[in-house]
Amino acid sequence: MIPQIDLTRQHAALRAELLQALERVLASSRFILGPEGKALEVEVAALCGVRHGVGVASGTDALHLALRALDVGLGAEVITPAFSFVASASAIVHAGARPIFADIDLETFALDPARVERAITSRTKAIVAVHLYGHPADVDALASIARRHGLAVIEDAAQAIGASYAGRPVGSFGDLTCLSFYPTKNLGACGDAGMVVTDREELALRVRRLRDHGSREKYQHSELGWCSRLDELQAAVLRVKLRHLPAWTSARRRLAAQYSAMLADLPLTLPIERPPAQHVYHHYTVRSPKRDALAKALAELGVGTTLHYPLPLPSQPLFGSTGGPPEVDCPRAWRASREVLSLPCFPELTEEEVEAVGRAVHQAVDRIG
Ligand SMILES: *Cc1c(COP(=O)(O)O)cnc(C)c1O
Repeated sequence: MIPQIDLTRQHAALRAELLQALERVLASSRFILGPEGKALEVEVAALCGVRHGVGVASGTDALHLALRALDVGLGAEVITPAFSFVASASAIVHAGARPIFADIDLETFALDPARVERAITSRTKAIVAVHLYGHPADVDALASIARRHGLAVIEDAAQAIGASYAGRPVGSFGDLTCLSFYPTKNLGACGDAGMVVTDREELALRVRRLRDHGSREKYQHSELGWCSRLDELQAAVLRVKLRHLPAWTSARRRLAAQYSAMLADLPLTLPIERPPAQHVYHHYTVRSPKRDALAKALAELGVGTTLHYPLPLPSQPLFGSTGGPPEVDCPRAWRASREVLSLPCFPELTEEEVEAVGRAVHQAVDRIG
């Protein structure tokens, strides 16, 4: 069986380094808001090409607190893709605002800028641009729309750390950018963790306050905040892994190129990399109208796959009360949810395994006709 993802290989390879980092934190017994978190914030902000990083408890909290830092709340509308992980939209609801779902570009799975422009009203305050599967959204077009209409841009880079657009890293385009260090992400903690990065000092200070009970100085609470911090054990783990991220990204890009060469002649739609974007292949996701049969045949051939994601966001019961658009308004999001299938994709996958998956996909396609 070749799994869609296997974290045990990474942790076996890094075991000594990780244990050493955990020992260091245990010895210091400083677990919340200490030197590891501070160092990680500096390192991740630098990777994203901005000056400030603020560690928080998860990628979801990063999105929620980024919106709060912009004072996007009650009465506001925030445009977000109709096809993404749930948190890209649920964070907007948590902030008190209303998610307005716009359709995606079926080639990149990111927001279609023309659809964003059409969704703008007098209540629109921000755009959440998701770099889905690790492919950067069309940040130039989105930034220009945002400028023209006076909107803020939040990058949801939960799946795209290390990706770039026109040579600039993701994280350097939005007013604020949200990262997730969920264990399966390209840079994953051994638990939950996330970060907000930004070049705007006032917004960084605001997120810093909001993550820690609304206080900048101990026991001085200037506003209502949350308890959402990235702890020292996770920060120490992430700092070890961050050193390996460039090599992991190269490995992901290599295996994607290998898949794309092997599968080019099949009746499948393969992921593309649209210049000037640089993809980091958090997922290698193909499309097929016979997706369910393909997944079943691959399982029988010993290849694990995952559906990211089986439902478009507007059809999630969670968003029902906010009046999401019907399928006719976001046909590509609906189509994606019916057709996407993610193949095994993680840096430790061997060349032989990628070849075996490629052969299995050929066999599966033959089998389902
Ligand atoms: C994982 C993810 C999130 C949420 O991150 P958590 O750390 O799981 O809270 C948000 N948006 C996208 C696109 C994600 O993939």
